[in-house]
Amino acid sequence: MHRRAFFTATVTAGAAAAFRRRARTAQVEARLRLSCQEWVVAGRSLAEKVAKLARWGIEGLEVGGRGLADRTAELKQALRGSGVAVSAVCAGYDGALAHHDPAARAAAIASMKAILGPAGELGAAGLIFVPALTLDRSALSAREVRKILAGVLPALGEAARTAGTRLLLEPLNRTETPYVHRLADAAAIVREAGHPGVAVAADFHHMGREEASDRRAVLAAGPYLAHVHLATTKRRILPGQEARDFADGFRGLKEIGYRGFASFECGVAGDRDREIPRSAAFLHRQWEAAGQPPCTPEPPGRE
Ligand code: MG
Repeated sequence: MHRRAFFTATVTAGAAAAFRRRARTAQVEARLRLSCQEWVVAGRSLAEKVAKLARWGIEGLEVGGRGLADRTAELKQALRGSGVAVSAVCAGYDGALAHHDPAARAAAIASMKAILGPAGELGAAGLIFVPALTLDRSALSAREVRKILAGVLPALGEAARTAGTRLLLEPLNRTETPYVHRLADAAAIVREAGHPGVAVAADFHHMGREEASDRRAVLAAGPYLAHVHLATTKRRILPGQEARDFADGFRGLKEIGYRGFASFECGVAGDRDREIPRSAAFLHRQWEAAGQPPCTPEPPGRE
C-alpha cells in the first residue's frame, strides 16, 4: 500500500473505532450527574449559588415552577458558560390533576401548561408533578384517578413535547399523597398514557418508605425514568448524613443505563457549604460501590 493511503486508512479505521467506542459508551453507560434544588444551596444570589454548584462538580440546578416564566432570562444569564444546566422543574402549578373537583383539574392543566414553555426553553428534563397531594383532599378512588390520568396525560404530554420537555410523574409516600406511591405504579400510568412527553421521576426519600427494594423499583420504572430526587429516608436530609444506602438503587440506575440527573431535594444538617460537597463525594463513592451491571444493558428507550 502506498504510504499515504496506508496512513489514511489507518487514521480512518482508528477514527471509526473511536466513534464506535464513543457511541457505545454514550448509549449504555450510566453516569451519576448530580443536581441540586435551588433552595438547598446557600447564596445571596443565583450567580453565587450556581458558582458553588459548579465548583462542587454538581451539574444541575432544579428550580420551582412557580413564576418560572418571569425568571427564564435571569436563569439563562446565570447559567450561561457555568457548566451547570437546569435539570428539572419541580411543581409550582395550581390545583390537582386528579381531583374530584373539575375546577381543581382545570386549574392544574392550565397552570402546568403555562410552566411547560419556560421549562422547555430552559432545557429541563421535565415538569415534576403529583396527581394530588393529601392536602388537596381529593376524594377519588384509585380507579377513577387512573381513568382521569389516562384521559388528560396524552394531551399534556403532547403540550410538553411541543415545548421541548416532559411531564414527570413522581410517586410520594402515603402520608403525602393518597394515590401513586411506587415507581411500578407510576410506570404503569405512564405506559398507559403512551406518550413520549410523559415520564417518571423517582425519589429516594419516598422509595425508602414505600419500596421493598430500591433496585427493583428503579428497574420497574426502566426507560420511563427521567429524573431522580436524592434524600435520606428518615429525616429527609443530605445523603450520607444519616444511615441510608444508595448503592442498591444506583445499581438499578446503572442497569437501565440512566443518564438523567439525580437532584438533592432535602434539608441539610449543619453548614450547607461544607455538607453539600461532602454528600456529593459520598454519593460518588456509593456509585462506585454499586459496581458494574451484570450484563450490558439495553440503551434506554429515550433520553
Ligand atoms: Mg421528590
